Amino acid sequence: MNIHEYQGKQLLKAYGAPVADGVPIFTAEEAEAAAKKLPGPLYVVKSQIHAGGRGKGKFKELGPDAKGGVRLAKSVEEVVAHAKEMLGNTLVTKQTGPAGKQVNRLYIEDGADIDRELYLSLLVDRTVGRVAFVVSTEGGMDIEAVAEATPEKIITVAIDPETGVTDADVAKINGALKLSGEAAEDGKKLFPLLYKAFSDKDMSLLEINPLIVMTNGRLRVLDAKVSFDGNALFRHDDVKELRDITEEDSKEIEASKWDLAYVALDGNIGCMVNGAGLAMATMDIIKLYGAEPANFCDVGGGAGKEKVAAAFKIITADPRVEGILVNIFGGIMKCDVIAEGVVAAVKEVGLKVPLVVRLEGTNVELGKKIINESGLNVISADDLDDAAQKIVKAVKGN
Ligand code: ADP
Ligand code: MG
Repeated sequence: MNIHEYQGKQLLKAYGAPVADGVPIFTAEEAEAAAKKLPGPLYVVKSQIHAGGRGKGKFKELGPDAKGGVRLAKSVEEVVAHAKEMLGNTLVTKQTGPAGKQVNRLYIEDGADIDRELYLSLLVDRTVGRVAFVVSTEGGMDIEAVAEATPEKIITVAIDPETGVTDADVAKINGALKLSGEAAEDGKKLFPLLYKAFSDKDMSLLEINPLIVMTNGRLRVLDAKVSFDGNALFRHDDVKELRDITEEDSKEIEASKWDLAYVALDGNIGCMVNGAGLAMATMDIIKLYGAEPANFCDVGGGAGKEKVAAAFKIITADPRVEGILVNIFGGIMKCDVIAEGVVAAVKEVGLKVPLVVRLEGTNVELGKKIINESGLNVISADDLDDAAQKIVKAVKGN
């Protein structure tokens, strides 16, 4: 689960991190009141969407010459003018995809005098099985580009969970970021508290790009991207409250309501499967026969008919889906339950694309009977190979 920059900053501030004063707003009137609360003379008007690259982003409605999604302002009037122009419009950044995201909230923040922009993130480093700091002096820009061009400028410091952030870790990070004097002292306080926030709240990513050294020599968190581990949300009611569902894919929200694992991809074949292994195998074999999956929805083991129907509806709601492959190996999940769910869903929402069903395992005969007697236009398949060939053929129309 992701949250907005300002929410991430509020959270980090509660742990003692140095962040600027700022006020989130929804309307231009609120923008004026917000700016008046800040000291000035420099203000920053920041689009709050769940995507990075806002500074260099462009508003669809405003044309290529208009300013981006993060704007400096030198007066309260200028803040209001920017807010009026930005609110309600669609910001397209490197991370939003061409459709962009509508800006419904802005964060009006105190402007900082920047000396250097650094990169700092915390993530779960799976190769060492630890939480690690990833830092670079090349902040404020696209870290992927830095990783590509100058990977030696990115330094990873993995933290031992037994000790937490040690003085030696702090020294390494300060060294990597070339921090000295007061900035290094700030780092000594900042790094352990970020690690604590990350661990306490079960974050999966905490990215500060940029962390800045100000002209007065002090550190400040200037941007914050925070993602939480969805599997741990049940123990963080405070985090759950920060959810902004207008930022999420409506199909993923629906899937999460039903506790379904749904993943959107780029192709045109929708896949309903049970179990992660079968999902992977199904996608591999679709690719083997020359097509690409549009998504997969894993109905898991113990689903009832309603949940299966919900899964099917989520898959068909994706406009990219030009064909559907239902590939089920009935173990705990019974084939007749799948068949009933699919039939119920099709009766409700219709079926506009070819559907290939491959059932195997528990109650397979009953499942096939339900499908065959439903009168639906279903292509049945005998095994995985056969199923993949049939659906690929069907979407390619030959
Ligand atoms: P994004 O990464 O989405 O583009 P950032 O929050 O990193 O958004 O802002 C982009 C750039 O705008 C920063 O790298 C920084 O140069 C500038 N900026 C952002 N916030 C402030 C601020 N409070 N004061 C001064 N400059 C800022
Ligand atoms: Mg940034």
